Amino acid sequence: MSFFVDTHTHSQFSPDSNATVRDLLLRAKSTGSAGVCLTDHLDLDAPRNPGLFEFSIDAQQEEIGKQSREVFPDGGCKVLKGIEIGLTPENMEHSREYVAGHSFDQIIASIHFVDGEDPYYGNYYEGKDFRQAYSRVLQLVYETAREFGNFDIIGHFDYVARYAPYEVKDIRYKDFPDELDTLLRFLAEEGKALEINTKTYDLHGDHLQILDTDILRRFRELGGEFVTLGSDSHSADRLCDKFEKFAGVCDLCGFARLTFFEGRQPRLYSPKK
Ligand SMILES: [Zn+2]
Ligand SMILES: [Zn+2]
Repeated sequence: MSFFVDTHTHSQFSPDSNATVRDLLLRAKSTGSAGVCLTDHLDLDAPRNPGLFEFSIDAQQEEIGKQSREVFPDGGCKVLKGIEIGLTPENMEHSREYVAGHSFDQIIASIHFVDGEDPYYGNYYEGKDFRQAYSRVLQLVYETAREFGNFDIIGHFDYVARYAPYEVKDIRYKDFPDELDTLLRFLAEEGKALEINTKTYDLHGDHLQILDTDILRRFRELGGEFVTLGSDSHSADRLCDKFEKFAGVCDLCGFARLTFFEGRQPRLYSPKK
């Protein structure tokens, strides 16, 4: 049984997901999850595929409501309406307009594209060493989130390292103390959450990517209160993947309680059975 709230999942409203809203809720039911937030992709004006990562927020929210009533007629699981907004310095205004007039439980701000490149395809890294490549993204995560403002959680701050060709395949506090301090201090001051994205800490090629616990400890030191666990699942079987392990890591770093958002308000919960 899992008593977690998975704050980052993708359904049929994301073009790269194999799971339907119903699949995710049935999985949450069978594993006893405390909650699940549907956070489909909104990446406006994406390079290579403009228009691919867009969806009708009304249709998604209607489907979440419908499936939630069918799968959990008596409640028992928090089914939350969210979105993952992929920000770029160029799509801020468009993103703002797109979400205006809708209400969400939770908004994740993420960086998927950097200077017109998708790190997934590798071009982004050409001509840069790991310091330049990672530093640029950390700076961009901070700048876009600060300017956009309308979000609750920073998604996978270390996404850029997932596909990196360097020997240094992890973002470590000791390599980027200034960039990370700027970001973490901002999140702490604004009462925003840092996401532990458990999809990131997986095997990428032959490298097992790590979460540098110095980053979490530093977030705590700077007054950070809110940490979320997100599986970033694009298939139902990954719901709450590795949450036990990372809840333990959070606990060791000063976050005994985890966070999810409901109606845009942070809710702390203890994942202990
Ligand atoms: Zn993402
Ligand atoms: Zn995602």
